[in-house]
Amino acid sequence: MIEAQNAASLWARAQGVLPGGVNSPVRSFRGVGGEPFFAREGRGAYLTAESGQHYLDYVMGYGPLILGHAHPDVVKAVATQAERGLSYGTPTRAEVDLAERIRTAIPALEMMRMVNSGTEATMSALRIARGATGRKRVVKFTGSYHGHHDSLLIRAGSGAATLGVPDSAGVPAEIAALTITLPYNDIEALRFVFTQYGAEIAAVIAEPVAGNMGTVPPVPGFLETIRELTRMHGALWVSDEVMTGFRVTYGSVAASRGLDPDLITLAKVIGAGMPVGAYGGKREYMEMVAPLGPVYQAGTFSGNPVAMAAGLAQLDVVSKPDFYDTLTERTRTLAEGLLERARRHHIEASVNQAGAMMTLFFRAEAPRNFDEVVDSNQERYRRYFHGMLERGIFMPPSPFETAFPSWMHGDQEIEKTLQAADAVFGQL
Ligand SMILES: *Cc1c(COP(=O)(O)O)cnc(C)c1O
Repeated sequence: MIEAQNAASLWARAQGVLPGGVNSPVRSFRGVGGEPFFAREGRGAYLTAESGQHYLDYVMGYGPLILGHAHPDVVKAVATQAERGLSYGTPTRAEVDLAERIRTAIPALEMMRMVNSGTEATMSALRIARGATGRKRVVKFTGSYHGHHDSLLIRAGSGAATLGVPDSAGVPAEIAALTITLPYNDIEALRFVFTQYGAEIAAVIAEPVAGNMGTVPPVPGFLETIRELTRMHGALWVSDEVMTGFRVTYGSVAASRGLDPDLITLAKVIGAGMPVGAYGGKREYMEMVAPLGPVYQAGTFSGNPVAMAAGLAQLDVVSKPDFYDTLTERTRTLAEGLLERARRHHIEASVNQAGAMMTLFFRAEAPRNFDEVVDSNQERYRRYFHGMLERGIFMPPSPFETAFPSWMHGDQEIEKTLQAADAVFGQL
């Protein structure tokens, strides 16, 4: 009881000192009692709130924690490095080790830069694309989130969509005008835009599986057309794999399909829960980055040794044989189980899944783009979310977010989730 009171007063304090009580808008959900819970501890697949309540967690830090919370190998690596210092301002061995490890998994990343977030990675990749082509326009897809910098915070799905803010105030119209947005999976629209603006487009940026409007996989030919058109018109293809990288497969989704993006952005899983991002690709482009070339990008904490240690430890574990097959299989069991139970209760539903990413949509047919996601029954999703939360299951609070099963979500956790869902569907 005292714990519950402390948690309530924490929310009041948070709202006094942080806008909306949070440091990122998606965290501002209404939980039990109308406010988000404050996490105190995470272990494996479970979170403990400040109130003492335990939750089976499918948010998983919004993607990085593919091994679950506080995996012992990651914790040990972090602790060992922390004792030797937190940050140096000189190169370190761990940066080279992690970059080489990533390049071995994704040979297309001939060179890369470590940064501190996915936002920094996509911002820097676009700067190279504009620097290399001397062009200004970029193409992105509606409902895809690539971070919160000016060029890409346009019709960006995710937290912005939940709050009904398609475009942010504070982004000058002149900058927004340089970003062309198209429906995801719309091959014809993409062809049309290239016939109109082909000579002005610096880059097409796309998630190879969209994850920030819920999970939406590419239709056959979509990624191939991006490659074909960018190449034909002298633009760069930036594959934003901040979410998909090392989550759907060991490495890049685009590269693993035999496609050949010019630049790839990573974050989330490669940092294991520490703030890390990376961008990289073909040597000719990466050699344009300072100090080798004229495209400037820097960072006090970039390649931070503690973050590198965490990432290396996580990649060590996930590189084991069958890791992704097993995780994908478990995610499929969950996805199909949820769908089957929804249907048992005559609830219109569909699922999209790619590797260890999945979303349950309250819509008869699985969505292929943002408009179709919006067309799902969002009110029903909210009731599903709350019903699950009351039963101790923390699903993504928004119908525009992906659920992230981790390695620690075993048969028992999945069964528990399906039982809770069955009860919740019975009341929808
Ligand atoms: C999360 C995400 C980003 C932004 O990364 P941050 O680390 O939150 O800045 C960019 N692109 C995609 C595809 C993402 O999922």
